Amino acid sequence: MRVAVFGARSYDRRFLDKANAAHGHELRFLDPGLSADTVALAQGSDAVCVFVNDRLDRPVIEALAAMGVRLVALRCAGFNNVDLEAAEALGLPVVRVPAYSPHAVSEFTIALLLALDRRIHRAWSRTRENNFALDGLVGRNLHGRVAGVVGTGKIGALVARALRAGFGCEVLASDPVEDPDLTAIGVRYVSRDQLLRDSDIVTLHCPLTPETRHLIDAAMLAAARPGLVLVNTSRGALVDTQALIDALKRGGIGGVALDVYEQEADLFFKDLSGEIVQDDVLQRLLTFPNVLLTGHQAFLTEEALIAIAETTLTSISDAEAGRPLTNQVTTDRLRG
Ligand code: NAD
Repeated sequence: MRVAVFGARSYDRRFLDKANAAHGHELRFLDPGLSADTVALAQGSDAVCVFVNDRLDRPVIEALAAMGVRLVALRCAGFNNVDLEAAEALGLPVVRVPAYSPHAVSEFTIALLLALDRRIHRAWSRTRENNFALDGLVGRNLHGRVAGVVGTGKIGALVARALRAGFGCEVLASDPVEDPDLTAIGVRYVSRDQLLRDSDIVTLHCPLTPETRHLIDAAMLAAARPGLVLVNTSRGALVDTQALIDALKRGGIGGVALDVYEQEADLFFKDLSGEIVQDDVLQRLLTFPNVLLTGHQAFLTEEALIAIAETTLTSISDAEAGRPLTNQVTTDRLRG
């Protein structure tokens, strides 16, 4: 198939090219992300390959279908950026990579939590300036603290296990589907409200849906334990960023580690150093000493990139050969 790979970065090219040796598709790597402004670049392609911040709303889906594109291949797990109803109505199948490496994201989540809690991000910049003073770097043990895991699917379960069995946290969890392997090691399922109220640490691993949008809001932050540490490696809009900034300004928050940000689409995956960034909310967030931000990096391991490339190209080969699309996402998933 002729595949337009939107938003292709050096690592996408490297891993997709290597895996494509076994598939033989014609990959056209494009620098811009897919949106209404760039959809014309898909002309002449049989499939488009896209990532988390590409915008596949109805007009883009309609344009793709009109130009004869037969497949949308997401090289990620989340699909909240695709209008699935529009795609289904136009008979344009959408596939994703349901699980490429939950270990990549769960390990990064723990790395962020430890770095933030033990002030490693601050120590790193200090020691580079030969400042070896320890004032201001007092951390907290993880052992014995209450950690709340929202969403115990593939990633959240690994995080809950590491926190409980590895670090000896008391772990609370909230998920409509309970994982018996987690309850067996002492993880306690509670309501989301109780979790948010009773946790010292809250880490988010549920998908972004209308129901979970802004689940961390002003009311939750006002009711949270003093010194709350919040980690979000799931999707930016789970957190009301302005409410978070207000809470950080009041001083009651222990720390915040974010790998994702509500308005990341125009910023992340680009090198904007030396440019004037116009996003005042993000810029304010970056001024807090107890905020650690990374640019949607949690998935970025060699193992994950190999799995993403192989699963994506296999789906494209399946579509070309008319085989069933095992990784297809449909509107049924939105409803339940
Ligand atoms: P998953 O589908 O295996 O797990 C999601 C879990 O959330 C499920 O158990 C589901 O029952 C639960 N859930 C659904 N609605 C909920 C709610 N309202 N409250 C609590 N739990 C709820 O998904 P996963 O592979 O573990 O991925 C989790 C999220 O991580 C994805 O949705 C994606 O947005 C994000 N992600 C981020 C990166 C990154 O690089 N930062 C990479 C991959 C995935």
